Amino acid sequence: MDFQPYIPGLKPADPGPLSRFLPALEEGVISAWLSQLDKPSAWLLDPFGFSPRLVLEAARNGYRVLVTANNPITRFLLEMFASPPAQSEFTAALADLGAIKKGDERLAGHLQSLYLTSCEKCNQQIYAQAFLWRKGEDAPYARIYECSHCGDAGERIITSEDIERARKIAETDALHRSRAFEKVVALNDEDRFYAEEAIQHYLPRPLYALTTIINRLDGLNLSAERKRALTALILIACDAGNTLWAHPAERPRPKQLSTPSQFREHNVWMALERGLSLWAETSSTVPCEAWPTKIPESGGILIYEGRLRDLAHVVKKEIPIAAVIGSVPRPNQAFWTLSALWAGWLWGKDAVEPYKVALRRRRYDWAWNATALHSAFKRLRELLPEGVSFFAMLPEPEPAYLTSAFTAASAAGLSLQSVALRTEHDPVQIVWKNEQKQQTKNTDADILQNAIQEYLITRGEPASYLLIHTAGLIALAEAGALKNPEMEFDEALRKTNTMFEFSLKGDGRFVHYSTGEGVDTGMWGSSTSPQSTRGPAHIVPTLFRESDSIESLSDRVEIAIVTYLQKNQKGIYLEIEADLYPRFAGLLTPSKGLIYAILNSYAEKESGSWNLRAEDLASARREELNTMYTLIETIGKRLGYTTRKQDKLLHWEESGTSVRTFNVLASALLRRALQESDPNTIIVIPGGRAALAAYKQERDPSLTTQLKKHRLVKYRLLRNLLEVPILTRETFEEQIASDPVEKSTGQMMMF
Ligand SMILES: [Zn+2]
Repeated sequence: MDFQPYIPGLKPADPGPLSRFLPALEEGVISAWLSQLDKPSAWLLDPFGFSPRLVLEAARNGYRVLVTANNPITRFLLEMFASPPAQSEFTAALADLGAIKKGDERLAGHLQSLYLTSCEKCNQQIYAQAFLWRKGEDAPYARIYECSHCGDAGERIITSEDIERARKIAETDALHRSRAFEKVVALNDEDRFYAEEAIQHYLPRPLYALTTIINRLDGLNLSAERKRALTALILIACDAGNTLWAHPAERPRPKQLSTPSQFREHNVWMALERGLSLWAETSSTVPCEAWPTKIPESGGILIYEGRLRDLAHVVKKEIPIAAVIGSVPRPNQAFWTLSALWAGWLWGKDAVEPYKVALRRRRYDWAWNATALHSAFKRLRELLPEGVSFFAMLPEPEPAYLTSAFTAASAAGLSLQSVALRTEHDPVQIVWKNEQKQQTKNTDADILQNAIQEYLITRGEPASYLLIHTAGLIALAEAGALKNPEMEFDEALRKTNTMFEFSLKGDGRFVHYSTGEGVDTGMWGSSTSPQSTRGPAHIVPTLFRESDSIESLSDRVEIAIVTYLQKNQKGIYLEIEADLYPRFAGLLTPSKGLIYAILNSYAEKESGSWNLRAEDLASARREELNTMYTLIETIGKRLGYTTRKQDKLLHWEESGTSVRTFNVLASALLRRALQESDPNTIIVIPGGRAALAAYKQERDPSLTTQLKKHRLVKYRLLRNLLEVPILTRETFEEQIASDPVEKSTGQMMMF
């Protein structure tokens, strides 16, 4: 396979409205891919409509993007992001809402008063930002506030008045609850049960606040623009009002509609106010229309509100698709169910109707996901011209998700062109092509083991399970071995899983480490011999010997970055990444953590750009190495040894026999140093490399194991030894043993 370089984003995903449910895609990625495509004003298709930001960025690049979106909430988000109302409309919308009369009160005051609590310090009446609940209890156990009178702020114990207030609202709950689901489904609807169940994820107070707001909406005489702004604010409140807010926030991205054991009940009025800043994006607008309205050739978004299967006649007749883009969906029962609920609240039953299946289905497994993806991919095969590329992003990658997507695409006949993976925290980037590729029809039983072994050898160090799994999936996809036509998807996925388990456990070639980069799933390395199936062991040293040029990935990345810094003064991070990623494409993409560990070791950051430290300029390092050589010779002489230099190594000898060997490095190329060293060798590194050396050991548990057999010391230790007035062979050994290379500090980025 022709592995493409990973395309890094320019900045992290914007934490905007409903961001906990939308794919977290870095900005700039799709722009970079489209600049390679180089067909401005051509038509793109996003068959999933799962990521409004992605579509918007593509349209801003001058492309016309056809999006199928059947989720009314994502469709609304897309329209809002494309042409947001002016900031003043949002402010005015909230003011209009707050000014509605509720009895003698204004609605704003009425809703805020639901959250009255007294400050623990000054006893003044204030509004709580949130109450904290334990699942299943009928009263909160704590409250969170910021007192505007005395400044006291934080989580405080609950009072009897707070409990009383929460219970009082619950007394009228049944009425509000039935109003809430009547907005979503009709009384005699067979889906009524599911709607009721979904609404269980709202406590009485937020449900009262939300239904009170929603019931007043129709009475408000607002312009279309202001109504859109108000709807957008209420949508934020609808999400803030449910119980899917774990406290402390352990899972910021819920997938299942389930109430955490401890959760926050947000102040709904404050959520509306916070919505103002969430929507406060003053970006240029992009034309956004619903099919069949036309959009300009200069770019825009055309939303197709039907299903992909109904699109064929549209596309074939008048919309020539140049490429497909999209964030591949993964099951999100929480968002899908809530979307149906919110659509009913905001727009009524008719808006829920086409999406009602989301209420009914409560269990989404990976086989379901693969089946759904497969039918989408098959439609793409039918409606696209031959040879069209599909740039797909798979955020929050995990093995089952990738198996599901690879199997679905392979079964639909899309051919896999490239896979680029950075870490489990970044979206995987895949390119498929609409073409029947000749599959290798490899029926070799070892296909998976060979692919994994080959990947580990190329990498030269252990890899996280996600990488191993992906390397295996690629081989299976290329061999057409993911699913045969008679199989159902659940059977195919099970078979693939069994193959992986068997390949990794049944074969002595691989060793599992429980630490290292990617600790969630452990690390996998190759073992020395069939005997060493468990416990720490080396990574295929026999194979390394066959081809000594193979160095570990982290050593190679270190060399590449230092070479770059030597050639380019004032490199900015993005340039360094841009230089690096094409050299380490596909599954070899270095993590940001590794890049920063190397940069911090060799360079200094000054007004945004990285420069080699003075002591790390090549000439300075050479001089320093020579000083170290002289120093080792001098210490040797004092201990009664003669020093012999052979290649890069210094040997202390006594009566012609080598007693100690020194391998003095200017780098942290530890894997390379280990290949040159025997257990008698002391590896000497500059102090400036200590943190990088520690980082590499944390990242690669097999390196730690191997280094245990050697002494690793810093230049400074040898310099200090020279100052010791009486140096004996014993004190030398003691001193050498007492120079641990410190663990890397907690501030280092592991990924
Ligand atoms: Zn106070």
